[in-house]
Order: sequence, then C-alpha cells, then structure tokens
Amino acid sequence: MPEPADPRALVDDLVAPHAGDWDLAGAVPREVLRALGGAGLLCPGVDARHGGLGRDSRWTGEFTAHLGSRCSSVRSVLTSQSMAAGTIARLGDAEQRREHLPRLVSGALAAAAFSEPGAGSDLSAMTTEVRRDGDEVVLTGHKTWITAASYADLVVVVARQDDGASAVVVPADAPGVVITPVAAPSGCRAAGHADVRLDGVRLPASAVLGGGGQPLPLLVTAALQHGRMSVAWGCVGILRACLTEASRHAAVREQFGVPLAEHQLVARHLAELLVAERSATRACEHAADAVDAASPDQVVAAVLAKHTAATLAARGAASAVQVLGSAAAHDGHPVARAHRDAKLMEIIEGTSEICQLILARHAVAAAR
Ligand SMILES: Cc1cc2nc3c(=O)[nH]c(=O)nc-3n(C[C@H](O)[C@H](O)[C@H](O)COP(=O)(O)OP(=O)(O)OC[C@H]3O[C@@H](n4cnc5c(N)ncnc54)[C@H](O)[C@@H]3O)c2cc1C
Repeated sequence: MPEPADPRALVDDLVAPHAGDWDLAGAVPREVLRALGGAGLLCPGVDARHGGLGRDSRWTGEFTAHLGSRCSSVRSVLTSQSMAAGTIARLGDAEQRREHLPRLVSGALAAAAFSEPGAGSDLSAMTTEVRRDGDEVVLTGHKTWITAASYADLVVVVARQDDGASAVVVPADAPGVVITPVAAPSGCRAAGHADVRLDGVRLPASAVLGGGGQPLPLLVTAALQHGRMSVAWGCVGILRACLTEASRHAAVREQFGVPLAEHQLVARHLAELLVAERSATRACEHAADAVDAASPDQVVAAVLAKHTAATLAARGAASAVQVLGSAAAHDGHPVARAHRDAKLMEIIEGTSEICQLILARHAVAAAR
C-alpha cells in the first residue's frame, strides 16, 4: 500500500471542511470513508504483508489525534476499523488474516460489536451466541450502539460459544443480519452508530476467528486495547481543537476594553486547557510507547490514557464553550460539536467508573 504523501493534508482536504455539515446531517458520505480506508488510513497498524501501512502505535496515535481534532465522527469510524482489524490480526489464523486484512486497507469498512441491551459495562452478561452446526455456525443475538455499523461491509461480533467466547466475522449483507441506525445520537452524530440484530445468521465455520472458544475476558481485553488507545488519542485531538479555538477567540474578542484573554478568569480557562492537552498527550505517548515495546504494562497504560484523555476532554471542551460564550452556542460550531462528542468519550471503551475500578485494582495489586 503506497502511503499518501501527506496523510494529514488528506484529512484537512477530505474531512475538515465538511465535518460540521456531516454532524448536522448525521452521516459521512461513504466514498470519503472508502477513500481514507483505501489509503490504509482507517487502520494504519495493519502489517505491510497484508497491504497495510504497518505503522506503530505512536504514529497511529498522532494521526488519530489529527483526525480527531477535525472530526470525531470519522475518528470514531477509524477506531472501529482499527478494533476490527486488530482483532482479526490477533485472533485470526494465517488464512483468515489473508482473507480479511487486505480488504480492510482497500476500502472495505468494518465495525466491532460487543455491547448488548443487557450487557454494557458488564460484558459477562452477554447473551449473543454462536453455535456450531456441521461445517457451519449459527449466530443469534442483538448488539447495540455499534459505531460505524451503518457503513460497515463486515462486523466483528463477539459472542458466547460453549464455555468460552468467539469473535466472528459477519458480512453485513448476510441473511439474518438487520442493521438499524441509532436515532439522534447526542454526539459523534455521523459515526454510523447502529443496532445489529443477528437472527439465526448462518456462516461457514471459517468465519470464527482462530476456531473460537477463547476466554471472554481475554478476547474483550485484546480488542478493547485498540479501542482505548484510539479513543484516548481522539480526545487529544478534541483538546487541541478546543485549545486553538478558545485561544484564537480570547485573543481578539474584546469586552471591558481589553481582549478576553487579559481577564484573569478567562486566562485560567486557557491555562487549564493547555495543561489538559499536554497531560493527555503525555499519557497517550506513554501508552503508545508501552504498546510499541510490547510491555506488560500496556493494558494498564491504555486504560490510564483513555481515562485521563476522556476526562480532560469532557472538562476542557466545556471550558472552551465557556470562553467562546454565545459564539459557541450554535449546534454547527466546532466547539459546540466537540463538547457533545467529548462527553460520549467518558462512556465508551469502558466508562470512567470502569476505568477507575481497573486502575484501583492495579494500584492495590502493585502495592502488595
Ligand atoms: C457513542 C457510543 C459509541 C459506542 N460504540 C460501541 C461499539 O462500537 N461497539 C460496542 O460494542 N459498544 C459500543 N458502545 C456501547 C458502550 O460500550 C457502552 O455504552 C458502555 O460500555 C457502557 O454501557 P451502558 O451504556 O450500558 O452503561 P451501563 O453499563 O448501564 O452503566 C451506566 C452507568 O453505571 C456505571 N456503572 C456500571 N457498572 C458499574 C460498576 N460496577 N461500578 C461503578 N459504576 C458502574 C457506569 O460507569 C455508567 O456511569 C458505544 C456507546 C456509545 C455511547
């Protein structure tokens, strides 16, 4: 896969000018997603052997932050594609990797489905099931809030199988698959969130990655690792966008005869935004370096990065709205959009509370 000469310029050309309109319309044109995907940019970590860019976690993260600073909806699509590709790369056998990964760097779009109406934070309550039937498997269940499912050509579905769990590659047009967009999401409105119903979907047994039967916690942790890193860097992007917009506005808008930035209470918002952006960036860099070094700390580092960046982005975007005042009180304003998008980052890939529980368990174990 020849890498585009300047991937960030491609984002600035294809995505940035339209992000506000896509948010209001609730959809990104599929051809834009296919163009980014076909350039390998929706899952830059896919190995060159499979036609991907073979980028490391640090490069992928900085690119994700750039995309996230322009459009959290398209960044969310990247997160889903990276989770799907990462799960296939990790759990699939050689033939499954050869079958699916080249497609995911050639314009095919993918989603990753874990959550169910009765299984959000507690994925052990999952009821979607895959059952072996001769040379085939049959998949039945209901997944909810699946990012990018409205655009997807394939969905990597996590399901119970016997005493363990399996990840199954499901073509979106397979008989029995029904994809229904989530109505009026409050943020990342163009990310293609949808419910995925699986009504006795019959597939060849080769659709089950690695033969299946893995322990559910292991399977979930492996897939969420990609998602957490990606969301964390996306939040860095949100903070960068908010810092730039708030600083520019505060430098030129005058009240009481001086620019807003000269009022100390406004300056404090700007200082806090800068601290938030730098702190989130450092947490993400630390986690990316742990991933690239295959460190045993990488799982905790990713949770820490996601929790830090999401919390700071939600708080920072609210501060940016405050600095802009009525200027950011329009649905179409980038800071208003960032504010809505950032709040959702505290919910996905492990809510803030679930991240805190994981980090507290780590702290207690480390102190023993
Ligand atoms: C924008 C968006 C995109 C999403 N994309 C995907 C996707 O691509 N794929 C996918 O599979 N899912 C996706 N989801 C679903 C997401 O993973 C879940 O929403 C998330 O796991 C939380 O589950 P829940 O919404 O059911 O909340 P619940 O689990 O019901 O939690 C509600 C509240 O209770 C708290 N809580 C729950 N348990 C505990 C506990 N033990 N201790 C303390 N507090 C607790 C939570 O932190 C939260 O504050 C997405 C959701 C959103 C909003």
